Amino acid sequence: MGIDPLDTGPLSECTASTDELLCRCGTSLHFRPESPLMDATPDPAGDPQLLLSSVDALPFDRIRPLDMAATAEVVLAEGEALLTALSSEQEGALSGRSLLRTLERQYDRLDRVYGLAHHFQSTCDSPAWRSAWAEVQPKITDFVSRWGQSRAVMKALETIALAHEPDRPMSLQRLLDTMLQSMRLAGVALEGEAADRFRAIQTELAASSTGFAQTALDSRKTWSHLIEHAAGVDGMPLNWRQLTAAQARKNGHEDATPEDGPWFVTLDQTIATPVLQHATDRSLRERIRRAWLRVGAEAPHDNSSRMARIVALRLEKARLLGFDTYADLSLATKMAESVDHVLALTDRVVTASTPLADQERASLQARAAAAGAPEGRDGLQAWDERFWSERDKEERVGLTDNDLRPYFAFDNALDGLFELVEHLLGVRFELADLPTWHPDVRAYRLLEADDNSVLATVYIDPYSRPETKRAGAWMMPLVGRSAALGADGAPRKPVAAICCNQSPPVDGVPSLMSFREVTTLFHEMGHAVHHLLAEADDVRQAGVSGVEWDAVELPSMFLDSWVYHRPTLHRLARHHLTGAPLPDDVIERLLAGRSHMGGGMLLAQAAYNRLDLAVHRTTEALEADAIHALANGQLAATRPLPPLPEDRMLCSFSHLFAGGYAAGYYSYMWAGVLARDAFAAFTELNGDRAAEARLGRRWRHEVLAPGGSVHPMKLFRRFRGRAPSEAAMLAWHGVPSPASTGT
Ligand code: ZN
Repeated sequence: MGIDPLDTGPLSECTASTDELLCRCGTSLHFRPESPLMDATPDPAGDPQLLLSSVDALPFDRIRPLDMAATAEVVLAEGEALLTALSSEQEGALSGRSLLRTLERQYDRLDRVYGLAHHFQSTCDSPAWRSAWAEVQPKITDFVSRWGQSRAVMKALETIALAHEPDRPMSLQRLLDTMLQSMRLAGVALEGEAADRFRAIQTELAASSTGFAQTALDSRKTWSHLIEHAAGVDGMPLNWRQLTAAQARKNGHEDATPEDGPWFVTLDQTIATPVLQHATDRSLRERIRRAWLRVGAEAPHDNSSRMARIVALRLEKARLLGFDTYADLSLATKMAESVDHVLALTDRVVTASTPLADQERASLQARAAAAGAPEGRDGLQAWDERFWSERDKEERVGLTDNDLRPYFAFDNALDGLFELVEHLLGVRFELADLPTWHPDVRAYRLLEADDNSVLATVYIDPYSRPETKRAGAWMMPLVGRSAALGADGAPRKPVAAICCNQSPPVDGVPSLMSFREVTTLFHEMGHAVHHLLAEADDVRQAGVSGVEWDAVELPSMFLDSWVYHRPTLHRLARHHLTGAPLPDDVIERLLAGRSHMGGGMLLAQAAYNRLDLAVHRTTEALEADAIHALANGQLAATRPLPPLPEDRMLCSFSHLFAGGYAAGYYSYMWAGVLARDAFAAFTELNGDRAAEARLGRRWRHEVLAPGGSVHPMKLFRRFRGRAPSEAAMLAWHGVPSPASTGT
C-alpha cells in the first residue's frame, strides 16, 4: 500500500466494473481437447445456442470464434427487430411488464456476447478470436449506441413508468428510473440544435480522450537517460539493473550488462519508481521526478490545450443536460449525494490526517538529516520523500515478499478464503467437474450450507499465462441471476470467473503467493460473492449490475480487509513445508506495513479528490494555464510540500482525461470509507464467532443479495444502523479520528 509519487493512478488495480465497453476479443484453441462432437458434426456456420442456452455451466471447451460471430448475428437481428417494432408504435403490442421482460432478455443476450468475448480475449488470446471480434464489435457498439438514443425506446419506458401501478415493487421503480436517466444523460431528450451540438460534443470528447492517452504515452517514451558509471546506480536492486541493461542493449549498447552497465533509464513505471525508492544519487531522483511532472506537457507531445478543451466540452455537455457543472452531472449517477458532500468528507480526512502526515514528514526529515542531507525542507524535496520512506519502512516493517511467500501457498490461501466465506455467509464451496477454458482453471459450485442446494457456479483461474492471458486480476460476471430467464420456471443461477496472475507451481513447488496477491484474491472473491449471491429478480440489477460506480468496490474491499484480521491470518498462513503458522512478530509487522506513512497517503488521495472536483466544477471555459494553476493550488493547499512551479501532472492524468474517473476520483476514498466501516462492524464483535456468523448472514442478505436493486446508501444504513463513518478508514491508515465523524 501507500501512494506512489509517480503514480497519479488508482490505489487498486481491480477491473471488475461491468459497465466497461468491450473493445477487444480473442481466444486460442490450443488447449482445447479434441471434441468428438465437434469433429463428428463440423458446423461452419457456428452455433448460437452454445452461448445463449440458459444453462448455469457454459460449454467453455466447445465455444469457438465462429459461434461467437453467429451468436452476435442472431442477437443483433433480434435487437433490430425489437427496435423496429417499438418505432412502428404498434399500440399495445409491446407494453407494460411483457415489454420489460423482452427488454431484459435483449439486454441479457447482448451482454452475454460482450461478456464472453471479453472473457475469452482476456484469458485465451489468439488471432482467430481477435478477427472474430473485430468483425462483430463495431456492429454491437453501433447497435448499443442507437438503442440508447432511441426515442421509441424512451417513449415506451416512459409509458410504463407513468402507468398507474399501485403494487409496483420499489426495485422495478428504481430500474425504470435508472434506465430513463441513462437515456436522458445520453442526450435522447434533446431536440434540434441542442441535439446536434450534443452529438458533436460526444464525438469530439471520444476523440480527445483517445488523443490524450496516446499523447501521454508518446511523451513518456521520448525521455531517456543513460547511466555509464556504477556510482550512478548505487542502491538499485539487481532486477532493476537487469531491466535497464536490457533496455541499453535494445538501444545500441550491445555490451551492456547488469553488473557494469551502461543502464538505460526511462519513464516506464517499472524503471522510474524504483529510482525514487532506492537510488542514492539524489540528482538522478530529481531528474526523474522533474521529467515525470512534464509528461504530456511539452511539444510535440503537449496535452495542455487538449486537456482544457476536454474540460470545456464536459461543461458544455453538462449545461445541455441541465446541470450547473460537469461535477454535478458526474455525481447524478453515483452513490454520493453531492459534490459538497464529497468535499466535506475530503475536508474531514485532511483535518484528521494532517497532524500524522506532519509527524511522518518530520521523522523522514530527521532521518535524511542524520544521513547528511540539508536541514529542513531542502533536505526532503519531492524526489526525496519516497527514498527516505523506503528506508523507514525497511526498519519498521522490514518484510519482503520472499519472507512471506512460503506461508501463502495458493491452495492454503484458497482454503482459508473459502473457510472465511463459508463462516460469514453460510455457504459451501464444492469442487465441480465442469468444462473450463484451461486445465489450470477450477470450477466450484456454491451451495447453501443449510440444505446443500446449488446457488451458483464460480471458476477460479489463478496462474499467469503471459502469452494468452492479460495481466492483473479481475472478476468477470458471466451469467447473471434472473427470475424470468431461467429454465422450467426456476430462477437462473449466476456464474462468475475470478482471474489472477500469480506464478504457477513448478517442479512440485506450489504457487507461493505474495501478500499482495493474497489480498487481491480476497478482493476478487468479494466481487464474486456479490454477483453469485444475488437475489434481485432482474438481471440488470443482479449482483454487481446496476450498482453505482462509487459503491461497486464495497463488497470487494470489505472482503480484502480480512487479510489483516489476526485470527483469520492465523488460520490462513501456514508454512507450506512445515505447517508452522506465521510468527506473531511477522503479523505485527504486516499490520504496521498497512498503515506505514498512512497520513501522507491519505493527504495525497485527498489532494487528487480536490483537484479533480475543482477542475470539473468550473462554471466557465478556462485556458490551460488557469486549469494548471487551479490544480496546483489544490495540491498546495492539501499537502505539506507545495508542487514545483513547473508541475503539469494534469497533462498525463489519464484517469481524469482518458478514463472513467472524471469528477469520480473520490470513489477510491469513498469505497474505502464504506468497506472499512462495514468491516469494523465485525471487529467490534471481539472474535465472537457465533456473532460474526450472524452478522455475516445479515451482510449477505441485506447488502450482497439486493445488489443493484436498492440504492447502496439505503443498504448500508440498514446494515450498519447509521450513515457511513470514516473513523474506521482513518484508523486503518493509522490516523486517530476526531470524536465525532459521519458522512
Ligand atoms: Zn475491485
